[in-house]
Amino acid sequence: MRIAFLGLGIMGRPMASNLAKAGHEVTVWNRSAGKDVEGAKTATSPADAARGAEIIWLCVADTKAVENVLFGPQGVHESLADGQIIVDSSTISPTATRRFAERVSAKGVQYVDAPVTGSKAGAENGTLIFIVGGEESIIDKLKPLFAATGKKIFRMGETGKGEAAKLAMNLQIALIYEGFAEALTLAAKLGVNAETMLPLIEASMVRSGVVDYKAPFVLKRDFSANFPLRLMRKDIRLALEAAKEARVKLPALETVEEIYEMATEDGHENLDYAATITLLEKWAGIEVKGTAA
Ligand code: NAP
Repeated sequence: MRIAFLGLGIMGRPMASNLAKAGHEVTVWNRSAGKDVEGAKTATSPADAARGAEIIWLCVADTKAVENVLFGPQGVHESLADGQIIVDSSTISPTATRRFAERVSAKGVQYVDAPVTGSKAGAENGTLIFIVGGEESIIDKLKPLFAATGKKIFRMGETGKGEAAKLAMNLQIALIYEGFAEALTLAAKLGVNAETMLPLIEASMVRSGVVDYKAPFVLKRDFSANFPLRLMRKDIRLALEAAKEARVKLPALETVEEIYEMATEDGHENLDYAATITLLEKWAGIEVKGTAA
């Protein structure tokens, strides 16, 4: 298929690369120059990339970025044509997603929100999980593309519901990681080190994918970004915003957002969200350490 892929960050670049490797005709665009993908053409603007494409696939930072890429100067809207399909793998507001979909439907363009879970490793290995909202017949057409970049697709309902479910997923990741980080910090302060705690966690019902993924990085003190803290904070805020719109109270997430705010003030926004543990450690006056699991 002819695919315009817009946004070559931690996630977008390997996704576009996997699409090109699967034999699709890919044209990429990125806001900052200098990023490209082997086997893909490079366009000078979103409008240029989208011209003549069957699929226009976005993976950019946030709601504002999606709005700019779609409707800003030289945006996708300038070259949209009847029958094209927009796929958005950015994690953004469900309400804005429905608004964007309505705007492009006037031109006969279908809109599928397809945020992902699986992080940097999932994007690189082609094992992402797509959390999808949109018409079933359109999603069926996209299945070979999802298969080239991921391992599973879950359809949550109509457009916007993929984003809604994704926010509910990241709410859990933020809270599970916070629980893990607080537990390791308390245990360390009470004299039980992380290496002694981890086999216990692994053997019990506390075990989780989040812990499996993050524990080795914490033990190595490697907080380089897989999922940057600034993006997890963005998702926490999106979840709180959606909760406010729906009149839902999320007290634990509100508290965790304060920790992300303080971590940002400490200059950790471009580190992985796992770096939030360093605040707990600072307050406790200890460091959680160990050799990599
Ligand atoms: P990233 O590495 O920070 O990349 C962000 C991309 O968005 C870059 O291509 C950036 O362009 C572009 N961008 C930012 N603001 C823009 C704007 N105003 N206009 C146009 N382009 C703009 O982020 P990422 O990790 O790839 O994440 C992309 C999306 O996937 C986010 O919504 C994130 O929440 C979601 N996600 C990430 C992960 C993960 O583990 N990293 C996992 C699941 C979902 P420049 O290169 O010019 O900065």
